[in-house]
Amino acid sequence: MNVLANYPPTDELQAIDSAHHMHPFSHNNALAEEGPRVITSAKGVWLKDSEGHDIIDAMAGLWCVNIGYGRDELADAAARQMRELPYYNTFFKTTHVPALMLARKLAELAPADLNTVFFASGGSEANDTNLRMARTYWAEKGQPERDVIISRWNAYHGSTVAGASLGGMKGMHAQGTLPIPGIEFIDQPHWWAEGGDMSPEDFGLERAQQLEAKIREVGPQKVAAFIAEPVQGAGGVIIPPEAYWPEIQRICKKYDILLIADEVICGFGRTGNWFGCQTLGIEPDIITVAKGLSSGYVPIGASILSDRIADVLRAVDVNHGYTYAGHPVACAVALENLRILEEEKIIETVRDVTAPYLRKKWEALADHPLVGEAKIIGMMGSIALMPDKTTRASFAAKEGTVGFICRDRCFANNIIMRSVGDRMIISPPLTITCDEIDILIARATVSLDEAYAKVKADGLMVAG
Ligand code: PMP
Repeated sequence: MNVLANYPPTDELQAIDSAHHMHPFSHNNALAEEGPRVITSAKGVWLKDSEGHDIIDAMAGLWCVNIGYGRDELADAAARQMRELPYYNTFFKTTHVPALMLARKLAELAPADLNTVFFASGGSEANDTNLRMARTYWAEKGQPERDVIISRWNAYHGSTVAGASLGGMKGMHAQGTLPIPGIEFIDQPHWWAEGGDMSPEDFGLERAQQLEAKIREVGPQKVAAFIAEPVQGAGGVIIPPEAYWPEIQRICKKYDILLIADEVICGFGRTGNWFGCQTLGIEPDIITVAKGLSSGYVPIGASILSDRIADVLRAVDVNHGYTYAGHPVACAVALENLRILEEEKIIETVRDVTAPYLRKKWEALADHPLVGEAKIIGMMGSIALMPDKTTRASFAAKEGTVGFICRDRCFANNIIMRSVGDRMIISPPLTITCDEIDILIARATVSLDEAYAKVKADGLMVAG
């Protein structure tokens, strides 16, 4: 019997899940009490659960299902590749067609001289690679003391030991004695929450200049790289002020610091261009990709290296590699995904049609009594929930209390939005249509109305 096709009723599935399955980023006992929702199938932007509900997925899974769910072409590509060559590695004097073809395709799509690809199975692994590559690059250049990587508080770069260390999530650092040595942090360019009385542009500049101050504090001869997401995703879709990135770029160039752009979310169309660094005018030395590379259908990630770095690393033994790096099935699926993104002009449609349509509707949410700012870039957006529109103050209640209330209302109204503290965020499949955007906004609005009613009833509309 196929246990997956003939599954038992929802409560039994939940009981099995609670007994044996530990969920990431979850309080598992609390989840067991509530019972996780069981997602059983999906098509386009729509998920179906085991109770038959149709849920609009305004998060594209975890920011990854860029071409939408249910594309047979990707299933066919996987099946074909599994029959022909289900697995082989590229460690010891061998290669295979899907890996080399995908590497060439990524080199063609990536900007400037980002021409060399080192594969991984996801974004965290690729950032582990980046840490080692950046340090090895400087060691091979005769500057082994250049081993410090500067990152930002509230950045997300993954959950492996290096990924979580590079990230600036204090809750993650608290588990497992992180960060590892050699990582330094500066503040994030989050004007809404931290900008005080400054203008967004002055604040953006000031936050960028923290990088220069940190480089001087550590010693320029000790800094290997700066890593950042073009637009912070998991931190709450924080779109930096325009002055921010040009100043960061200037500082990296001045001190010859490698710039690592973590494009795991921003890559493959999310911001309206192939890569976030094109939207934001960044010239990185390394980019991290994953998620949208395969639209999440199979796990794959990669580091894409500029010629400057690749030339140095090609001349030494690379003592690093993952069993599933460049997995043939993952590469075949990714190639098919990129073909669809290109041939169906999905990114152009985002840029010219659907993102501008969504932007108008999303920004109008700022008029809701529970919402302060509503920001969006391409197909990633956030709204700040707050008790007082005039002051940008946060709630007196513990951070995240109101966000959770709103997220639960979304869940009940069959729309997946995520809460980050008291921000609500979206990142829908890039294939979402204007009609589906109307549904997304309608469900988001009802959820905000219901959350507002509850927040008021609970006496939480109070600034802290
Ligand atoms: N970097 C960024 C910017 C991410 O958003 C994520 C995942 N959300 C990662 C790295 C980690 O990727 P993965 O979960 O595939 O390891």
